Amino acid sequence: MEDNRADVQTIKERVDIVSVISRYLSLTKSGANYKGHCPFHKDDTPSFTVSSEKGLWHCFGCGEGGDVFAFLMKIERISFPEAAERLAAEAGVSLKRRGDGERERLRTLSAEVVAYFSENLTNTAAGEKAREYLLHRGYGEETWERFGLGYALPEWDDLKKSFSKRYGLKTLTDLGLLVQGKENTLYDRFRDRVLFPIFDLSGRPIAFGGRAFQGEPKYLNSPKTVLFDKGRHLYGLSWAREALTAKHSAILVEGYTDVLSLHLAGITHVVGSMGTALTQGQANLLSRFVSEVVIAYDRDAAGGTASLRGMRILRNSGLDVRVARLPEGDDPDSLVRRDGPERTLEILEAAVPFHLFYIESLKERYNLSTLAGKEGALAEARPFYQGISSLPLKEEIVGLLAELLDLPLEGVREDLGRRQQRWRPTEEPREMEHSWGKEEVILSLLLRGEADFREVAALASPEDFSQHYRPIVEALATVNDPFNLSLLMQRLDEESARQASYLALAPVRFNDTGKALQDALIKLVKLPAIDRELVRLREETKRCDKEGNLDRVDELQRTYSALVAERTALVAQKHPRRGRDDKG
Ligand SMILES: [Zn+2]
Repeated sequence: MEDNRADVQTIKERVDIVSVISRYLSLTKSGANYKGHCPFHKDDTPSFTVSSEKGLWHCFGCGEGGDVFAFLMKIERISFPEAAERLAAEAGVSLKRRGDGERERLRTLSAEVVAYFSENLTNTAAGEKAREYLLHRGYGEETWERFGLGYALPEWDDLKKSFSKRYGLKTLTDLGLLVQGKENTLYDRFRDRVLFPIFDLSGRPIAFGGRAFQGEPKYLNSPKTVLFDKGRHLYGLSWAREALTAKHSAILVEGYTDVLSLHLAGITHVVGSMGTALTQGQANLLSRFVSEVVIAYDRDAAGGTASLRGMRILRNSGLDVRVARLPEGDDPDSLVRRDGPERTLEILEAAVPFHLFYIESLKERYNLSTLAGKEGALAEARPFYQGISSLPLKEEIVGLLAELLDLPLEGVREDLGRRQQRWRPTEEPREMEHSWGKEEVILSLLLRGEADFREVAALASPEDFSQHYRPIVEALATVNDPFNLSLLMQRLDEESARQASYLALAPVRFNDTGKALQDALIKLVKLPAIDRELVRLREETKRCDKEGNLDRVDELQRTYSALVAERTALVAQKHPRRGRDDKG
């Protein structure tokens, strides 16, 4: 990764992505790109696209994608260093590891930052609310110490000031502690948050997860760094390691507090996935320790497409997957605190096999009382069914589906075995249509090199973007002079790389890129700013009205009307042929 970034770049320049991928599937030229049948899902379309020029691949059926390293890692189920070694040999590059000294320095900084956040938690006045919050959740001081908990002060530059003299801004940025905002300013990533350090397998701190008291995002993780990659780590693995090996089974939870509360209750074969989008890297890691995984996400999260995709990755990695049915509205944290360890273990042990959970989940995603709903559920289940090799299991699925859809057994069996006639994306169908939002438009233009990042950065900061796109925005800020797509991909974790390859390769065309960018920026930055100001003006008007300050009320109302007019004009400019309604 960062260690040998120059080597990685050389490899990418010398190795042709099309010839590497061609060893695994046959590709045919289609316009500027190459197309083939995806090796990662049952694909009759073909939906797998490769761009030699961009050095990217993406499957528009299952959503996988990335650069040549990501492809090799995924298809061979190997780690990044292994993939790098193979490609290096092919490219005639000898890999140099950047000195271990650099990593050591980052590790030392990381440990110091843990101590610093912990000091904020225990010994500052501002830390009071974090202390109260943790105590209220049943985490006493012993727990803070045991898990290294801390608190980031509300200031924008507290950490920056405390550490930059000794470590320099670059090291702080390399560890993901600082974020680059507008006009190249650097500020603290974590502010006013309770912090959960993330440890590597040997128990050394390498990254942080921060929980906000209010506002969004509720959880914020360190970005990908030399030490940390969310897609290749699991929260709490160093604490769970022994128990995992002893039990051959892991309980997989979503959040930091789920891990903590279960550990405190004596249930220790538990690790956190830090979000529901499990990756191949995490599956590989788990399969080193266990043969079975019990997913314990809250109900809504478990049935989501990202989560289902993750479960399939686990299953395809040879792990037995079961899904726990948590009571409505519960996560493992709330469950164990209310009902205690015994009842919690009972529920976890009653987890159902993945295929049962999957079929049940169809009920939640399709209206099965309609024809269209039944057709949709069958179409979605088809690749799932075809991906299974066990005949008894296949028959069980046929039976369950026939019952669920109230259809004859024979018909269901025949339908599930049919080849997919037309392209029916099986996951995230909405992404496939070009109903893109403002963020997708902006990022797509930037990733295609059709817009200049500096133009965007002059108006928008990373925090204007939603949480799941921020890693891409932050990475863009570091590769914009000149723009280097290949280097950008190196800085993204598995999930963000998938999004980036989609945005860069999706077959969309903008009639007027300049206008598309301007419209999207108006929606992303200007309109929300005006709306916030309007709310503020309304509140002040109310207050002045109460106080009888009528001159001020007059003035405020004039400002308000002017701002409303400005908003209307901006919206009209975006939709020249539409009426006054901008909701559409
Ligand atoms: Zn695919």
